[in-house]
Amino acid sequence: MREVFDVLVIGAGPGGTQAAVSAAHQMRHVLLLDASKVSRRRGRAYWSKTVKIEDAPVFAGITGAQFAKALQGWTVGQPERTIRRGGEERMAGIRRADGFALDLERLDDRTFELTYATEALSRDGQVGATTTARGRTVVVASGFEDGWPDIETNDSAARMYRKYQLVYRYAGNSRGWHLCIRCDGHLHVDEHLAVVGVGDYIFEVVQGAQDFTDRITVLTNGRPHGMSPQVLAALRERGTELDEGKIEAHIGQGLNLLGFRMADGRELFFDGFFVDEGLKANDEFLHRFDVAHADDGLLRCSADHEVLDSSGEPIPGLWAAGDIVAGERNLIASAFASGQDAGLEASDSLRRWAAPAEIGTGDLPPHAD
Ligand SMILES: Cc1cc2nc3c(=O)[nH]c(=O)nc-3n(C[C@H](O)[C@H](O)[C@H](O)COP(=O)(O)OP(=O)(O)OC[C@H]3O[C@@H](n4cnc5c(N)ncnc54)[C@H](O)[C@@H]3O)c2cc1C
Repeated sequence: MREVFDVLVIGAGPGGTQAAVSAAHQMRHVLLLDASKVSRRRGRAYWSKTVKIEDAPVFAGITGAQFAKALQGWTVGQPERTIRRGGEERMAGIRRADGFALDLERLDDRTFELTYATEALSRDGQVGATTTARGRTVVVASGFEDGWPDIETNDSAARMYRKYQLVYRYAGNSRGWHLCIRCDGHLHVDEHLAVVGVGDYIFEVVQGAQDFTDRITVLTNGRPHGMSPQVLAALRERGTELDEGKIEAHIGQGLNLLGFRMADGRELFFDGFFVDEGLKANDEFLHRFDVAHADDGLLRCSADHEVLDSSGEPIPGLWAAGDIVAGERNLIASAFASGQDAGLEASDSLRRWAAPAEIGTGDLPPHAD
């Protein structure tokens, strides 16, 4: 008999870890797939290198690497074990596996099969050894990848990190590239911010930045600004500068990004650097499913975090949690909250019996005055 987990959780960031812990807490047997050792996808929080995350529940100021370790430690409280229930032995708790999800297939109404890479992906993304795991439900918590600015990139280099090594060097530091105005805006109160991006989309960063500073320059990096007249007017009204020059190189010192050398020879200096070049959901392994994406590229889900298909119907057995869900805050506390919801919903769907279709309140106990 092949082993069938109650819940397969894909992604071990805050969303997936919480989903796994919540389901295991209801005596479910959970496989928690962690891609961080076999791929460069380490979860968004990991990239917070010297900037401490200060607004996550329970954790005092913590950098990305410490946070990933703490999440891993948390799952130890729900070890994989045999329990006796209703006279039968069965498995409960969390098994962690290092693996990168490649393909999810529905075998029948009650079984999914997940294929995942168990060896580090090669430098050009080639897959080595793989294995499969089966589950009755799935929680997708694999997050998204941020787009990076096209500055000092080398198209001939196949490796992502070589291509973007300068960008990565400056990312996640207090004076480096920031990806989230809500997370890192507090580091630059009343300072001059560079915001790199185009279109009305980038206005959200400028709008968020008003909590911290009024000194903002939007740099389009050589592209037309692409903003609608209303957004452009709003920028002008707020005194936000717009620079459509091409950025040729970073000007930096150590891990500190100081400014940009522009193609026209100017040197521009700023105190903080925010970028929003769009994002991409990490959901290639769902290619067999008719999943629906919202305008931001993330998974459309119901209020109960069921993944929706293109006609708006829930896909049975499939939930999602964290950043990959469209319309979420893209912050740690909201990833925990949706992870809890998705983990419990997946767990509840496995109950042997449901409440009667019509359920009234019966006689309520009297309230004590
Ligand atoms: C630089 C930076 C600083 C931030 N600072 C803050 C902050 O101060 N406060 C705050 O609240 N939020 C902050 N955030 C946002 C926060 O990190 C995210 O909202 C949060 O990590 C989302 O959790 P998640 O579990 O949904 O996704 P992630 O944390 O991105 O985790 C996704 C997981 O899925 C795995 N994965 C991806 N693809 C696959 C696959 N194919 N197979 C298996 N696993 C896969 C990854 O390895 C990863 O472990 C910051 C983000 C960044 C980038």
